[in-house]
Amino acid sequence: MGFKDYIPLDKKDFSISERTIRLHFYIIDNLKGDNNFNLKSGKRYIDELIWEANNKLANNQKMRLPKGNSTPVLPTRIQYEVEGVTYHKEAKDWYFDHKDDRYNVMSSALWSKYAKKDSVAHIFMIEDHPDSIASKTYGGIAGRGMGTLKFVKLAGCFRLLTDTIWKDNGEFWIRGPNFAAGLMNHEIGHVLGLGHSWVNDGCDDTPPNPNCWNYTKNGPCASKVSNNMMDYNAWQSALSPCQIGKIHRNLSKDRNFTRKILKKNWCSLDWTQSVQIATQDTVQWCSSKELRGNLLLGPFSCLTICRDVSLPKSAKIILKPGSTLIIDGGKLYNDCGEMWEGVFQKKSHPKDLDAQLILKNGGQIINSSQQIPYQKLE
Ligand SMILES: [Zn+2]
Repeated sequence: MGFKDYIPLDKKDFSISERTIRLHFYIIDNLKGDNNFNLKSGKRYIDELIWEANNKLANNQKMRLPKGNSTPVLPTRIQYEVEGVTYHKEAKDWYFDHKDDRYNVMSSALWSKYAKKDSVAHIFMIEDHPDSIASKTYGGIAGRGMGTLKFVKLAGCFRLLTDTIWKDNGEFWIRGPNFAAGLMNHEIGHVLGLGHSWVNDGCDDTPPNPNCWNYTKNGPCASKVSNNMMDYNAWQSALSPCQIGKIHRNLSKDRNFTRKILKKNWCSLDWTQSVQIATQDTVQWCSSKELRGNLLLGPFSCLTICRDVSLPKSAKIILKPGSTLIIDGGKLYNDCGEMWEGVFQKKSHPKDLDAQLILKNGGQIINSSQQIPYQKLE
């Protein structure tokens, strides 16, 4: 099951279903309570941050690199939901500070202290040391952060990224939650197993690049500026097909990387997410999937399933005349301990050709109420 099996074919391929990642935010303040948002203003900020971040993920942009590329723009099928926001005062401020290792941005101390469950991704909102803001040599205009497989730290939302200030021409200049959203998506990209794309990240469609923040008049940043989420740049608005495939593979049952942070949204039927195999198409699914809608095989189409495919409660698989469904070593089941309806055939005329259901190599259909007669091949 390479990551390629987890890349949506196009915008309408709902066999890679939309996944919702649950987030818990921790606002880390000092004892005086003046170095971060309070709970109320923090919640308001986080609402806007999530809105911006979901918007970026829902509107994946065309890759700017390599120049003249024809890399497809595919849906990311990732969204966020806030599970909780909590406010904490710390005697030691857990600053974003490279000078002191104990409170360094790389420290996992906050995670060890506060992260009590593994059903969410943990986001710590920390701030710079006040002295570094006062320093004349301080260059931290943009926010920074870090992400591991376990947690994310976002630095500077309160002091540096509170409001967006617009230029006369309508572009934004000072960055607010819109910029913090790019930063957060980048750091959560690390939680989901993505590496930096300016170096070799194992994807052919994210070329190594000079990692330019923005365009400059001369030098390498005059042309080779990336807009990829996993580079450092002013947009962080594009994910390549390979990156999308890796995210969904890592979240799948096959890999089970960080699957617990997902909202289990595949248990009940959402017919708007139904999947259709087009007339006369031949398709093979060799990755584990959770469908959220019904599955329809068009006339004379053929679908082969060689991994585990979950159907939501009450879902149906409908076979149109002449179509073939082959369960080749995989299984159809429900991942939530519920029953789904089963496999049916739909003829519009008595003379229509029968559809075929074939089970082979130990292929199984379970948790379903009924299905049409099937052929079993060994
Ligand atoms: Zn990074």
